[in-house]
Amino acid sequence: MGRLVMKFGGTSVANIDRIRNVALHVKREVDAGHDVAVVVSAMAGKTNELVEWCREASAMHDAREYDAVVASGEQVTAGLLSIALQAIGIQARSWQGWQIPIKTSDAHASARILEIDGSELINRFRERKEVAVIAGFQGINPQTGRITTLGRGGSDTSAVAMAAAIHADRCDIYTDVDGVYTTDPRVVPKARRLDRIAFEDMLELASQGAKVLQVRSVELGMVHNMPIFVRSSFDKPEDIDPYANQPPGTLICSEEEIMESHVVTGIAFSKDEAQISVRQIQDKPGVAASIFGPLAEANINVDMIVQNVSDDGRHTDLTFTVQSADLDRALEVLRKAKDSIGYLDLRGSTDIAKVSAIGVGMRSHAGVAAQMFSALAEKGINIEAISTSEIKISVLIDAAYAELAVRTLHSLFGLDSR
Ligand code: ASP
Ligand code: MG
Repeated sequence: MGRLVMKFGGTSVANIDRIRNVALHVKREVDAGHDVAVVVSAMAGKTNELVEWCREASAMHDAREYDAVVASGEQVTAGLLSIALQAIGIQARSWQGWQIPIKTSDAHASARILEIDGSELINRFRERKEVAVIAGFQGINPQTGRITTLGRGGSDTSAVAMAAAIHADRCDIYTDVDGVYTTDPRVVPKARRLDRIAFEDMLELASQGAKVLQVRSVELGMVHNMPIFVRSSFDKPEDIDPYANQPPGTLICSEEEIMESHVVTGIAFSKDEAQISVRQIQDKPGVAASIFGPLAEANINVDMIVQNVSDDGRHTDLTFTVQSADLDRALEVLRKAKDSIGYLDLRGSTDIAKVSAIGVGMRSHAGVAAQMFSALAEKGINIEAISTSEIKISVLIDAAYAELAVRTLHSLFGLDSR
């Protein structure tokens, strides 16, 4: 007997039939004797619709009211799932973020969870075996008493935070894929599902473009050492043996619990980046600060940065990447700061892709970068920028070559399934 958080994403609760199916998954675990807290997303497409309604009402809307609107999607599914559970004889009660409460910062639309009191839910597990059905994505700011939301994809984070708060044994994320793959199977049909992946690797995969989980949820899992199990909600509830060691899926856990070791665990890629080149800036102290200072103030995240070697000892070029969505804003900020930076020319392009090889095994292996660069060269793929960390090598390339690069690296590092 244990304690579980079961999280269901939007496609898993997309209509009443699917919500009934979710109820059967929950029943299975309750019948196996577990304490269960469920975290739900809004029905598929609902949050997009709510966001769109806010924009329609006014392009410049108050973020507090945006949160009041978009948090409603999860309120509905939490109530509906509780009804569906009660209908099959399971004690269940819905909980909004403010009722638990899930206390967050006041950064509306991207709030951070500060504290959760799980004691009432634990009491109810003990006293009446009651399943808690929690609206994901939302919380409350204790100072203002207002509803907040955690950013798109935030119910993953709600789930892992809840799991830590109620001292769960595991946080199961039921989604529309059956686990974490070595890369996107739509690009590389030979991609393999990983049985286990370390928190660090998953964190990099998610940050570098894999869309399975919200990055913050993996961070929280790592901080609390809470195992996260990614599995499909489309497996038939009756086909799953709750006592089996590990059903199909991927366990995200600490590095020590992983036996099989590869140097590279996965290949991530993202086409959501844009490149900005600032040409002919002066090669002297303070110039980089004059560029990145205003960008930071505008809350624009900069990723890869390359500064060319100066030919004449006086001028140089600086190239860096930002999220595509931030490109126009970034160019605007740099145009405004033209006088204080002092450049000749400014260019932005979105025809780029970032491809990353990720693996905690790189810490103890030399030569991974060299292997990667020669494999790309053999395919005639030009590298425009490089960035590395202890467990990651990323290259920036022409977007047209993204798929080829991913396939090449996937084979190179022995990740193809046989
Ligand atoms: N419903 C929210 C979204 O679509 C939160 C979530 O599903 O994780 O972003
Ligand atoms: Mg999601």
